[in-house]
Order: sequence, then C-alpha cells, then structure tokens
Amino acid sequence: MILILFGPPAAGKGTQAARLKAKHGIGHLSTGDMLRAAIAQGTEVGKRAKAIMDKGDLVPDEVVVGIIGDRIKQDDCKKGFVLDGFPRTVNQATALDALLRERNLGVDVVIVIEVDEAALVKRVETRANEARVKGEPVRPDDDPETFKKRLGVYKAETAPVLPYYEAQGKIKRVDGMKPIDNVTAQIEGVLKGTKPRKSWFG
Ligand code: AMP
Repeated sequence: MILILFGPPAAGKGTQAARLKAKHGIGHLSTGDMLRAAIAQGTEVGKRAKAIMDKGDLVPDEVVVGIIGDRIKQDDCKKGFVLDGFPRTVNQATALDALLRERNLGVDVVIVIEVDEAALVKRVETRANEARVKGEPVRPDDDPETFKKRLGVYKAETAPVLPYYEAQGKIKRVDGMKPIDNVTAQIEGVLKGTKPRKSWFG
C-alpha cells in the first residue's frame, strides 16, 4: 500500500502517519523530519535547507525528490509506505509517479485531512506553548508569522496538487476537525475500501 497523507501544515499528518506505520508495518516518510535530521547532522542538504525552512518556504523540488528516491529503497518500505508532507508541488507529484512507475508501482490513495484555517493557527500556538512548557525548542517555522507564510505557500503551491490526483480518481477526504482517534478511524475506513494496486516491491 502506498498512500499520501495530504493537508495543510498542522493538519495532523505526522500523528496519523505514525499510527499507520505502527498498525500496518509500513514506512513513514516525512520529508520535513528528514530535512530536520539533515540540519541536525549538518549535511550539505541540511545547510541548503535550513534558511529556506526557517522562512516557511519550500525546499527545491530536486532536493526532496532525491531524498524520497533514496528513502523508498529502504527495507521498511517493502510493504509500502505513507508519505507525509510530500509531494508539495505538482512537479514533485509527477516526479513521484515517475519514480514509482520505474518499479511498476503507483500511489494507491491520497487521503486529504481537512481542517479549517483558524483551527490550524490555534493548533500551532498550542504546539509552540507545549514545547516551551517542556523546555523543548520551538520549531522556528511555528512562529505565528512564519506559520501564516506556510499556509500561504500551501494554498499557492501545494493545493494545486489536489486536481492532479483528482484526475486520477485517488482522492479521499477525512474530517480533521474531529478528535485524533476519530480521524484515525476515518482513515482506516478509507483504507478498508481501497484495493492496493500492489502491496510489495519486487
Ligand atoms: P513539515 O514538517 O512537513 O511541516 O515541513 C517543514 C518544512 O520543511 C516545510 O515548511 C518546507 O520548508 C520543508 N519541506 C518539507 N517537505 C517538503 C517538500 N515536500 N517540498 C519542499 N519543502 C518541504
């Protein structure tokens, strides 16, 4: 099963992807997490990405497509994987299709987590406050102004990916305003109704 969790920043994609990984034994591929790890390790990719991410802009397509291309070859992706935060542009979506086609694979379903904008802004404020209380660093891009920028980038560059998958009949929507467990149940319901094109590599 290859699925994409799609939605604006702070919609809950990371939380739900972690649950899918645990329940189905598939890989969880978050380009945001991989880029933050690259920054922490001080790699070339990390150095290139840091300033861009701190501003709330998108890292160039070729960087994230390269990361995903390497990552899907790893063992934990053999049963399939959930993409969280990728693709974020139409170019990334077409590059992903090309990468998968080479392996005779394809995206099975794109699950859109719908949350209204006011709720997203509130969630990010809460996330930042919780981190402060725990004495953990606050993500620089969770600062309110930068977060608004990320929402703008989502609308301008990422939302246009939806018609691309709509044309392939792959979009399913879930109500992301509901409690976390309810969203998980909605996602599981979608998966039950989805026949994977192909579950395993090889
Ligand atoms: P996230 O953790 O998914 O919210 O991503 C944090 C930041 O990482 C984004 O605001 C972008 O700067 C960068 N990023 C993550 N995934 C991508 C992607 N697929 N394309 C471009 N930039 C990305």
